[in-house]
Parts: sequence; C-alpha cells; structure tokens
Amino acid sequence: MSGIYIHIPFCKRKCHYCNFHLSASMKYKDDVVAAILKEISLTPDFLKGKQLSTIYFGGGTPSILSSEDFALIFNQLEAHYSLDCLKEVTVECNPDDVTPDFIRGLEGTPVNRYSLGVQSFYDGDLRALNRTHTKKQVFQAIELIRHSNAKSWTLDLIYGLPEMTMERWMSNLQMTHAVDAPHISAYALTVEPRTALYHFIQKRQLRLPDDGQVTAHFDALMRWAGERGYEHYEISNYALRGHRAVHNSSYWEGQAYLGLGPGAHSFDGAFIRRWNVRNNPIYVRKIARGEVPYTSEMLTPDDLYNEYVMTRLRLSSGVSRMDLSGMGERYLHRFEEAISPHVESTLIQLSEGHWRLTDAGKHFADRIASDAFII
Ligand code: SF4
Repeated sequence: MSGIYIHIPFCKRKCHYCNFHLSASMKYKDDVVAAILKEISLTPDFLKGKQLSTIYFGGGTPSILSSEDFALIFNQLEAHYSLDCLKEVTVECNPDDVTPDFIRGLEGTPVNRYSLGVQSFYDGDLRALNRTHTKKQVFQAIELIRHSNAKSWTLDLIYGLPEMTMERWMSNLQMTHAVDAPHISAYALTVEPRTALYHFIQKRQLRLPDDGQVTAHFDALMRWAGERGYEHYEISNYALRGHRAVHNSSYWEGQAYLGLGPGAHSFDGAFIRRWNVRNNPIYVRKIARGEVPYTSEMLTPDDLYNEYVMTRLRLSSGVSRMDLSGMGERYLHRFEEAISPHVESTLIQLSEGHWRLTDAGKHFADRIASDAFII
C-alpha cells in the first residue's frame, strides 16, 4: 500500500495564523502545475512494486486548481501508475471555491473525498483569522459536497480562537452535527512567531482564551464526539464508522508515500525521507531541466523509534509492545521505563499489549512522547 501527496502552494490570501509555505500570487500557478506533471514522469520508481491506494491534494489551496488542471494531473498519473486500486482520493478545499462548477469539474475523476477548511461557523471568527470565506459559503459548500458523488468528507475546525467562549465552541459543534459531518479534524489554535496573529496578540489587539479554557474546549469536544458515535481514532481526528481518513492514516502507520510539488515530503516506507525545495521558481526551473530538487536523509533505528512513538501515541490503537519488541528489546525497555510514571498517574493505560493515552493523557501527548524519545 502507498500514497501520493500533491502540494499546491497557492492561496488567495494568507490567513493570519498561517506559517505554511505558500504564495498569495498566482504568478507561478501554471508553471507549478506543469512542473508537477513532469515530476510525476521523473519519479515513478520511488513507489515501485507498491500498490497505489491513496492520492491527496493538499496545500495551500488545491481548490484553486481548474478542472483542466485536475484532468491533466490525473491523466499523467494514469500514464505512470495503475489507478485501479485507489481507495481514497482527497482534495482539500476552501468553502468559497466549492461552487457547482467546481464539483461538476471533479465528477468523472477519481476524487471521492473532500476536506473542507471550515475552521468556524461564525463570520466574526473567520474575519479575525483572515479566512476568505463566510458562514454562508460554508453551508453552501457542505450542501454541494453532500449531494456530490463523494464517498466521504471531512471538515476542519479550530478551537481556542481569539475571544472564543465555551458557548461559541459548543455552537460550532452543534452546527457540525446539524450538517452530519462524517469526519472532523479539530485543532487548538497555535500562535506561530512571524504571523499576523502573533503581532495582533503582542499588540493586545486580540485576546486568546487562557490555557484552562482551551483545555476545556478539548475536553468538551472529546465528550461531544463520543456521545455522537465518533471514534476518536487520532488525537485531532474523529470519524463515524467507515469514514476514517485512509491517506492520513497511512502516514501515521509508516506507509510509503511520494510527495509531488514544492515543499512536498516523501517517505519510502523503510528509512528514507526526502523533501522538495520550498521555493516555487527554483522548483519549476530545476524540474524543467529534468532534476527533482530535493534533500534526503536516512533515518537511523533511533529516529524510526522516535517517529513511531510520536505518531502511535496519538492513535487510539496506541503503541504496540510487539512492534517495539520487533525494533529491539532496547527500545521496548526504553519506552517502558520512560512512560511508567505516566502509567502510574493514569495518563496512559496498558491493555492487551498496547499503551494508549487516556483522555487526561491526550492533553500531554507531545510531552509524554518526548519523555520516551532517544536523543
Ligand atoms: S488556506 Fe490554509 S494554507 Fe492557505 S493561508 Fe489559510 S491556513 Fe494557510
């Protein structure tokens, strides 16, 4: 099993909290798409011998692509891969891009899942974040997606937003329930340095809820999702039965994937990780010369152990004793020793050979993982 990730590094404008690699100018859009087509022809050996199961268009904003761009990309993929066994093909969308024409343009392609960047159902929140869409466009987009051929869809939400009260957060969740979202990704807002949001907070033009309030938002979300039948299968992801994100799950389970486009990362499923240059003009120029501009690293057994702990601790399936043993007894002992205080304080539970975070432990996932790292 393997996947392809296609990075579209363009957005109409930059959200105030965003520190991703992207351009708010469409100047290189056609050149980048042409380069991605060529990169597909330059890299088919990376996944050689592995069945292609998922494709994911991420960004940036892949929904700025035209139906012609998508058709070109799928034709090129089909020329180099078998698309017969695809389980999931996802496109990340901003709600204002999801029009009847957009959905129609993707019918007849392998796209079968949409990931909608809702973030909040409130116009005040959307303005504070500098999102390009409105609440009205969120409902229109959801309506179109629900009546499309897609097998599943998901929406992104952010809690801990400026001035967000518990009442406002619960109201967002109620609206999520009202639109029957089969999958939710929900993240606490993080304020990254050198973003507009950071600047506003520093200048006291916006005020964030305190840590206690953000913790309460996450607790309320976990309770709310559990009561409505969502599986909390990854720390930021909740799915109704049969709607887990297959592509993202394959990252967490260490499967191979090829990243195409500027800044895209790849992993060979064993120990090689590589990442393309994050600069659009350099990427375009080098690909035109037939060279994929990437840097790579070979992961050591300790790196692989650290990555395993970091990702698996976030999953409901947890860290497996058998997996650690397979890496070597040294790793099993290291992990057991490092997490024993967290087992005692009931942040982690061991059952049937798997260590899993409790709901209380989910608040400290990163810290607990780093306690078990080998550095
Ligand atoms: S749409 Fe996503 S990638 Fe684009 S600026 Fe906003 S947060 Fe960043």
